Amino acid sequence: MSNSTTQLTKITAEQLEDVNAKLEKLTPHQIIRWACESVGSGRIAVLSAMQEAGCILCHMVKESGLSGKMDVIFVDTGVNFPETLETAARVSDAYGLNLVTLKPERTMAEQTAEEGVLYLSKDGQKRCCHLRKKVPLRQIIGKYDALLVSLRRGSGGKRSDVPVLAVDSELNLLRIHPIVLMTDEQMDEYLAAHKVIINPLHAQGYPTVSCNRCTTPVLPGEDDRAGRWRHLEHEDKYCNINPTDRKRVRDNSDFVELASETAVKILNFEI
Ligand code: SF4
Repeated sequence: MSNSTTQLTKITAEQLEDVNAKLEKLTPHQIIRWACESVGSGRIAVLSAMQEAGCILCHMVKESGLSGKMDVIFVDTGVNFPETLETAARVSDAYGLNLVTLKPERTMAEQTAEEGVLYLSKDGQKRCCHLRKKVPLRQIIGKYDALLVSLRRGSGGKRSDVPVLAVDSELNLLRIHPIVLMTDEQMDEYLAAHKVIINPLHAQGYPTVSCNRCTTPVLPGEDDRAGRWRHLEHEDKYCNINPTDRKRVRDNSDFVELASETAVKILNFEI
């Protein structure tokens, strides 16, 4: 949205169903290009925690010839593994993306001094993830109309029915998932074919990587997310910063308001 006089149009999750059916017929690169053309290159960014899928997405943005214009948003909780921070720097540098690092208001030491060691209890973990992952993202409200995110249905669990296009009413932007349909095999093939830079922790027994306080390697045969919050014996192995993880998608009460010109381009998309 450019200024206070810009005309706005509401887009609901329900309205996106037709668009999503069409987008599912496109390749990831085609979805990325469509997203940039529809939203405008200055109003879209990549959001990545610098895990394998996010690194592949960054590489695809470069392959689409769009990286020079695009920010990659990375939330540094202050307790990331050094390998993750190095991956963020290497990926953004190699793929020509502008790394935008968002941080929580307090350091982990300050938070612990004031509230205790939150991540050691189930309720505390929810608050800690809220403070260190979700709240920092609010700094981008108003800056973008869409984020490219690397969620995949093949990850299973809460991701098994994630749509290509979803609304994020809290950040008032669209979440676009270009690699939502890529299988594990296709991910492996893409990694090998393009020698994508990925977090070295994946090769050290960590299928997924988050904060160093709450991520451990997994044993052979364990679920990929078994190493997340292992100390809490959680059934819900998600931090819920992705709106599609925390509530029903395709719900009509979920909406964003975008510049009418942008909304029309999105809703009138034809293959
Ligand atoms: S993953 Fe753990 S340390 Fe990181 S924000 Fe969540 S609870 Fe806190």
